[in-house]
Amino acid sequence: MITDHNKDKNKCNHCIDSANVKNELLIVTKDHLYTTEALDKEEQRLYKKYMKLRKRRALAAGYKVIATIDEDVLRVDMIDNVLKQEIPNSIFSVITDQYYSSCFMIQTGLVQLKKHCSQCAGKVGLYFDSGIGDFNYKCKCGEMWNYLDKTIWKDYNLDSRRILTILIMFLTGCKPIEIKKLLISSSREYRPLEKLIKKVISEYFVRNLPKFRGVVEIDESAFRSKSKTRAKNKVDKWVFGLYERERKIVYMEIVKNRRESTLIPIIQKICEPGTTIISDQWGSYNKLPDYGFPHYTVDHSRFFVNPHSREIHTQDIEISWGWAKYEIRRQNRIMHNLQEYLHLFCWKRQFKEYQDKVTETTALIKGFCEIFKDYQMREKKIEN
Ligand SMILES: [Zn+2]
Ligand SMILES: [Zn+2]
Repeated sequence: MITDHNKDKNKCNHCIDSANVKNELLIVTKDHLYTTEALDKEEQRLYKKYMKLRKRRALAAGYKVIATIDEDVLRVDMIDNVLKQEIPNSIFSVITDQYYSSCFMIQTGLVQLKKHCSQCAGKVGLYFDSGIGDFNYKCKCGEMWNYLDKTIWKDYNLDSRRILTILIMFLTGCKPIEIKKLLISSSREYRPLEKLIKKVISEYFVRNLPKFRGVVEIDESAFRSKSKTRAKNKVDKWVFGLYERERKIVYMEIVKNRRESTLIPIIQKICEPGTTIISDQWGSYNKLPDYGFPHYTVDHSRFFVNPHSREIHTQDIEISWGWAKYEIRRQNRIMHNLQEYLHLFCWKRQFKEYQDKVTETTALIKGFCEIFKDYQMREKKIEN
């Protein structure tokens, strides 16, 4: 699947696939939303009509009308239904439906189920809230709260469907404006959640990054912001990158300069001693063997691959630069919080090894669900 999109974007399978899947996602989701909206209106219309007829019939028969028809549903503990609910395979069907979104969040551990009341420690039940389409906890003592209250999602004032839409859209690389349009909401509503997503994934990536070993390609690259206020061609930030071939993992870090005293400590921090390093002929790397790192170079002014051995090249890290710049600029033109975006990209980079975009997206979703589960366990430990 790895093709070099720097050379010809239109021939890069990954780029074409990404664009196609993303466009399809947007179109299908929009369609779903329109259908849902229309159905909601129709439901409201029929409900009014139904209530009118009911009232007439009740009056005619001379008996009293009860206020709602949903009371029976409200009295059923939904916990087993939610856990056993079969969720549609298509992620579009999930993020356009409040009920499926809530079930998805519970089943994947994005929301941890509570079993006991915070007031009386009695057993609580999960009840369907027909008004907002998700769940409330209720306790015999009278305590009742929305199932997102007292969770990490509580501060964002978003329902399950919106939380899930932002998570998936943001991580599959949608632009802020696309997410805004889809949710018919303002930046003020979803930016705080986007911030949490970046923070949680970036911290997880750094904490769980294994030491690089075997053969590692290194390179530096300049990241320029596309902001109009900055002078053209001004180098904004130098980023140092390392790519481990065996596990195909990448790490990128902003550096203040490209001197030996800056770059060597990063190599020592990221790589196991004795790791074989491949780079271009940048002078800062000359002393690598003195630090215990076997070192091979490619003369980029003459070749892309060392003519003596085809293994000696830095193409994997160079392709990663192309990807990183393309993806980060889509969501972050002014390169604000670049380091966090770099971590996010490095984390997402591992899923690009899958053969097709659908498998990649599924793995990505599974990945972030695990991370958020882990994050909530840690938060809990800190609380206790
Ligand atoms: Zn590409
Ligand atoms: Zn209680």
